[in-house]
Amino acid sequence: MHQIWIPLKDIPAGGGEYEVDDQSVWQGPIAEFSLPFNIVEPLRGSVFLLPQDDGCLVRGRLTGRISAPCDRCAEPAELAIDHSFDSFEPFPAPAQPQRPAQPAQEVARGHGKAGASEPEADGEIEDVDEAVIRISPSGQGVEVSLSGLLWEEFLLALPAKPLCSATCKGLCPSCGSNLNTASCACTQEEGDPRLAALRGLTIGKK
Ligand SMILES: [Zn+2]
Ligand SMILES: [Zn+2]
Repeated sequence: MHQIWIPLKDIPAGGGEYEVDDQSVWQGPIAEFSLPFNIVEPLRGSVFLLPQDDGCLVRGRLTGRISAPCDRCAEPAELAIDHSFDSFEPFPAPAQPQRPAQPAQEVARGHGKAGASEPEADGEIEDVDEAVIRISPSGQGVEVSLSGLLWEEFLLALPAKPLCSATCKGLCPSCGSNLNTASCACTQEEGDPRLAALRGLTIGKK
């Protein structure tokens, strides 16, 4: 992934404006994490950075057009991205000795819960987002990552449930047909599945 780190000391006193249209900023993580997104029209980020005493003000806008699988029918849904953001990134604390490790929280009790390890919401230093702000590798000063920032804002810009159309009929739960383009014989079989076992029964007529 193409990383774009801006040292805060390079930002003019009144703040700095940055335009990012290098698609690898988004395409890199999309490929790295095998995410089902396609960039249909180039993404473009405009970011304004204004360093403060204890962090950096971040303001900007992300635009473009992508496709993502429809939440109902799984066909590609085109989504216009036009997302404004406004945040404050607190500075990371300077490197300091690690606190002694917490006594291990109870290890998941019971069997059959393999791999269900919840990340501990503990030991976080304020809300420092290390993908976005860090101490310079030289140890001098702080840098902000435009690429990290614009990737996170991209994820925030996506709807939780993308739809190819507000009226998408989705897939038939029985046979999997795409009901937007096909009708299937099982549509009238809907009903409470708990009653399905009774459907075979014939009620004796008087
Ligand atoms: Zn759909
Ligand atoms: Zn069906």
